[in-house]
Amino acid sequence: MKSEDVKKIAMIGAGDMGHGIAASCLLGGYTVVLRDIEQRFVDKGMAGIKASFDKFKEKGKVTPEAYNDALARLTPMVDLQTAVKDADFIIEAVPEKLELKRSVFADLDKFAPKHAILASNTSNISITDIASATQRPEKVIGYHFFNPAILMKLVEVIKGGKTSDESIQIGYDIAKKIKKVPVIVRKDSPGFIYNRVNEPTLLLLSKILEAGHPTPEEFDAAFKPIMAMAPFELLDYVGIDVAVHGLEYFAQVLSKDYKPSDAIESYLKSGNLGKKTGKGFYDWSKGRPAIDLAKATKEFDLNHLVALQVNEATKVLEEGVADDPKEIDLAMANGGGSPFGPFALAQGIGYPVLLVKLEEVYKKFPLDIFKATKMMKEGKIKV
Ligand code: NAD
Repeated sequence: MKSEDVKKIAMIGAGDMGHGIAASCLLGGYTVVLRDIEQRFVDKGMAGIKASFDKFKEKGKVTPEAYNDALARLTPMVDLQTAVKDADFIIEAVPEKLELKRSVFADLDKFAPKHAILASNTSNISITDIASATQRPEKVIGYHFFNPAILMKLVEVIKGGKTSDESIQIGYDIAKKIKKVPVIVRKDSPGFIYNRVNEPTLLLLSKILEAGHPTPEEFDAAFKPIMAMAPFELLDYVGIDVAVHGLEYFAQVLSKDYKPSDAIESYLKSGNLGKKTGKGFYDWSKGRPAIDLAKATKEFDLNHLVALQVNEATKVLEEGVADDPKEIDLAMANGGGSPFGPFALAQGIGYPVLLVKLEEVYKKFPLDIFKATKMMKEGKIKV
């Protein structure tokens, strides 16, 4: 099969990610079937798609004709067999549980046409493990969108252990057609590119909480003038539970350094998970927290965080997860946060400056994750 032959996409799971991915595929011109296990979940997904399109229409991003045309290509469905029987490309976004994903993929393998490619929007689960539940591992790819999927540009197109280059190419071309920025992840590795490069920052926050200083507000005050959301504020926004689960996952699969500190886990125990519970590091009950800039710490600045990102990005290169620093920058600049990738930043700031910053972090928290790599010390990577 070639990318041009893909006409019909089946979206499995109509939740937060599924409805946004389906909406993006519709805007890209595809015929889409949206499937969930119960009618009420499908209805919720449909309502989400319509709400996004309404906003786009209000802002003049889609014409009323394009809006109607896109919705006319969408079919809601509960029956799995009918949903996938003539689909060319199937994207799964069901909850993040290995056994559930494996059973969904075994069913997809049974009911989908032989030529169909099966893509998983998993955040963390190994594509190779998911693919092994099928008889077509060469046609299984990772397809990692970012939240909200309708707006965020990055799609990581991930090669599992047995994925063919042809399947990766088709996933890549479809992502381009729906106006996303695809980046190929060449090795099925924890956190792929985007989450992996960001994880050391999360580890730093967990360690700062353990040390007890600076406080979240003192830390954030140093970043607030240059960031839409400062690091601890962002953690609250995303959910402290999500962050802790991320750390636990990395501790299991990458390095025990990531083990969440007791200090960050105590928020989980207290039930103060951030914005969604009204309280986390900050009080959200009256809207966005007010951060007192006068309290800014002098212990940390932006270059500490850039140094952590650049160092981890060199590991992604070293391990062959990505083979081009430009691709890593593309991923990091399109997944949210900074408009610049770590290597472009390193070139601008200078590797020697960042190396000093990294060594400062290591001195405070002597963990292997914070140790400078050979590439970081050499400082030769240019984009
Ligand atoms: P969600 O809970 O909002 O949606 C999951 C949907 O899947 C629900 O509507 C549920 O009813 C449905 N479902 C459950 N079993 C199903 C089945 N057998 N067939 C079809 N549908 C089924 O979850 P989400 O946030 O959309 O996450 C989905 C996937 O996307 C997860 O793997 C998650 O890790 C990944 N992801 C999430 C984010 C995010 O920020 N939310 C970002 C990137 C990737």
